[in-house]
Amino acid sequence: MNYYSTGNRQLRRSLKDAVLDGLAPDGGLYMPESIPVLPKEQLHSFKTKTFPEISREIALSLFHEDLPEPDIIRITDSAINFDTPLVKVEDGIYTLELFHGPTLAFKDVGARFMARMLEHFTRGLNQKINVLVATSGDTGSAVASGFLNVEGVQVFILYPSGGVSKLQEMQLTTLGGNITALEISGTFDDCQRLVKSAFQDSDLTKNMILTSANSINLARLLPQSFYYFNAWARLSENQEFYVSVPSGNFGNLTAGLIAGKMGLPVKHYIVATNVNDVVPEYLDTGKYRPRPSIATIANAMDVGNPSNFARILDLYGHSHETILDVMSAYSYTDKELKETMGDVYRRTGYLLDPHGAAGYQALKQHAPKEEGISGVFLETAHPGKFSLTVEEVIQSTIEIPEKLKQASSKEKVSIPLTSEFSELKEFLVQTVR
Ligand SMILES: *Cc1c(COP(=O)(O)O)cnc(C)c1O
Repeated sequence: MNYYSTGNRQLRRSLKDAVLDGLAPDGGLYMPESIPVLPKEQLHSFKTKTFPEISREIALSLFHEDLPEPDIIRITDSAINFDTPLVKVEDGIYTLELFHGPTLAFKDVGARFMARMLEHFTRGLNQKINVLVATSGDTGSAVASGFLNVEGVQVFILYPSGGVSKLQEMQLTTLGGNITALEISGTFDDCQRLVKSAFQDSDLTKNMILTSANSINLARLLPQSFYYFNAWARLSENQEFYVSVPSGNFGNLTAGLIAGKMGLPVKHYIVATNVNDVVPEYLDTGKYRPRPSIATIANAMDVGNPSNFARILDLYGHSHETILDVMSAYSYTDKELKETMGDVYRRTGYLLDPHGAAGYQALKQHAPKEEGISGVFLETAHPGKFSLTVEEVIQSTIEIPEKLKQASSKEKVSIPLTSEFSELKEFLVQTVR
């Protein structure tokens, strides 16, 4: 199957080229030319299958034209080595816990899958693939962990010095091996600009393979559809359900929309954001006004110009009306998110992280109770990753998971660079061969 650019449907690439490109040459995002629809019987068989088994079947449907079956199975089995359990919070409301991977955030699913797919693609090449990624925290740690020791792939993570939490910095800088942390004296925006400049620098791209590991990359996006099927499979009933997705760059939601096109019976999608409400505003007014992001307690959703929005427009033929039929959106202030976290904890004992709190609240706000239709919101991170906020809300200390504590005991290794592109370029020229 080919993958086209949202900027121009005539611009088509193989899976391998699309994954190695990341972004299409015209600046668009790659989309599959056709989305397979699963037979009803197959969907129903998921009710008795595990998450790894379901993931395998979805991966085979998506990639069987592009990769040999044994390779698809090997990549998927190795990436999906943890569960995404569905947990009941209260009557009719469930959470899909996506934080049981190594860095305790949903990005582990996409990062692990992408790493293994790249490893597969490097086999035919006599060159290494270099992944450059700018991070404000979560993406970098998931990519660092997902790509660690993956053969043929060298990873460079650019992060703003002093701009990520201590814990996140430890997750980025203590792994060693094929993971190099570049500590930039600048902001996250500087890091993103440096990465972009590298991709556009012909001296560099002529001599080395450079790709990105942000959610614009198909190999990160598509596997995120797997767990939507698991959510439905774990519900006891067979009918349609609501899905609520805490969103920033909208990769997670886009994967859910693709799952719907594959036949997953989603009644309606509910988008939850913090005060960075560009997409809720678009749904309200039909106008898309990207703007600088505002810092919030749900900081992985502090995005002012969501990169996957182009894919959502593309999926629904740029029709505002059709998009409104498919989804509704709600945005929340920090104060509202904290109230939700406190309220849910006191009433049900379930501890939400600030991102999941948006998902829960949007689901409650949208889905009428009397309807008798179940709703699932995605829990995108473990509350222990946001312990300062969580502890302030519930007024007691929480247990920090072992997986997070491990990194803190190791030695930090990073390479300091200024935000001058020439310095990054020189470093890459010297290091990559
Ligand atoms: C990245 C992230 C999000 C946002 O996901 P998108 O796919 O960018 O919409 C939400 N919650 C957490 C915890 C994240 O790390």
